[in-house]
Amino acid sequence: SLSENLQATFKELRGQGRLTEDNIKDALRQVRRALLEADVALDVVRDFIDRVKERALGEQVRTSLTPGQEFISIVREELITELGGASQGLELRAQPPAVILMAGLQGSGKTTSTGKLARYLLEQKKRVLVVSCDVYRPAAIDQLKTVAEAVSADFHPSSPLQSPAQIADAALAVARKELYDVLIVDTAGRQTVDEKMMQEIKGLHDFLKPAETLFVIDSMTGQDAAKTAAAFGDALALTGVVLTKVDGDARGGAALSVRKVTGKPIKFLGVGEKLEALEVFHPERLASRILGMGDVLSLIEEAEKKIDRQKAEKLAQKFKKGKGFDLEDYRDQLAQMVNMGGLGAMLDKLPGMSQIPAQVKNQINDKEITRAIAIINSMTLQERRFPDVIKASRKKRIAAGSGTQVPDVNRLLKQHMQMQKMMKRMRKGGMANMMRGMQG
Ligand code: GDP
Ligand code: MG
Repeated sequence: SLSENLQATFKELRGQGRLTEDNIKDALRQVRRALLEADVALDVVRDFIDRVKERALGEQVRTSLTPGQEFISIVREELITELGGASQGLELRAQPPAVILMAGLQGSGKTTSTGKLARYLLEQKKRVLVVSCDVYRPAAIDQLKTVAEAVSADFHPSSPLQSPAQIADAALAVARKELYDVLIVDTAGRQTVDEKMMQEIKGLHDFLKPAETLFVIDSMTGQDAAKTAAAFGDALALTGVVLTKVDGDARGGAALSVRKVTGKPIKFLGVGEKLEALEVFHPERLASRILGMGDVLSLIEEAEKKIDRQKAEKLAQKFKKGKGFDLEDYRDQLAQMVNMGGLGAMLDKLPGMSQIPAQVKNQINDKEITRAIAIINSMTLQERRFPDVIKASRKKRIAAGSGTQVPDVNRLLKQHMQMQKMMKRMRKGGMANMMRGMQG
């Protein structure tokens, strides 16, 4: 995945505490390629890359992150911003009936999405009426009827002999009289944007004064999506977008382009042909999907929250003064791991790790860490500061005190020694980096 590639790219950069033009070059190239593969329009990609670059340059890598994680978190934040920030639902607080007008090209998924939205609103205990203003294709009205029946939404019958304006007028009257909360108006679409279609939907819009005018667009139309979106956006006051056919392996790159061009929030994703295949759009989820990572980022966020920065700073000071990494420091570090929910919880968030049986993970998790802490707690202060004094008889005492065996104590001491060595090596790489090494 992209995030794995980025991590790998930054692997050799552990010794650097800053993101620089030089060390992010490869990573930027990867992001660019991934976005182009997701079919994001070229100028949108270019713009995005420039922004990420500008933000990343000179950024101090946070103590709790590796340079790769720092870079990914910048990319992700920018993606979320670009995708609209927070998730936005339907705005239906108008005087009932609130009208939802569906606009878009033929085949984009308007009729299907009308059914999906009806279902979604019925679940929220709204009274929903649907109507079709598609008088050009004989089967279009029947199609909506079938869809409405499937989701148990009320259907206002219309006829190809009426004009779209007449249909809208009649349906609105019924919706008012019978106190519907929402009227969803399905419309006709053409293969390509044309003047007649635009005039017609503009007319419907003027008359219906919809609370929501949703632009339905097929994500598979790729870069053309942006152009269509722009044409509709110019003609109509769109309030939101339904991006359809984001199922399968499409990664939703179109979302980035559509959002950019219309400037309107994407409100829903169509993720399948079935009428329950509708998702409320969450920018942060699509950002993660584009980056193709498991839950790595929530892991980073957690680490940022929980790691006791003061302690980390103090430890860093100590190193500056040339002191070693003693067993007290080691215990602090182990405690921080427990704080974060233990190694098992951390592993769970990494891609691919969910397949590892819980039994195995738990073994790594609690037992080892708690035992190690117990062993260190059974030592005297002097022993913790100068582990060299711990010889056979002390080991026996410590094991007995912590309810462990001498081999456990030996293993703990060996792990600590390895850590100490690693620290020494990393000291040359600078303080921030050393701290990162300890935590990751
Ligand atoms: P309209 O012409 O805009 O009303 O489009 P339709 O609602 O008739 O949909 C056109 C085709 O796209 C139909 O075959 C739908 O089943 C299909 N479709 C609509 N939305 C989705 C979606 O989210 N995922 C998939 N896979 N197919 C969809
Ligand atoms: Mg239709």
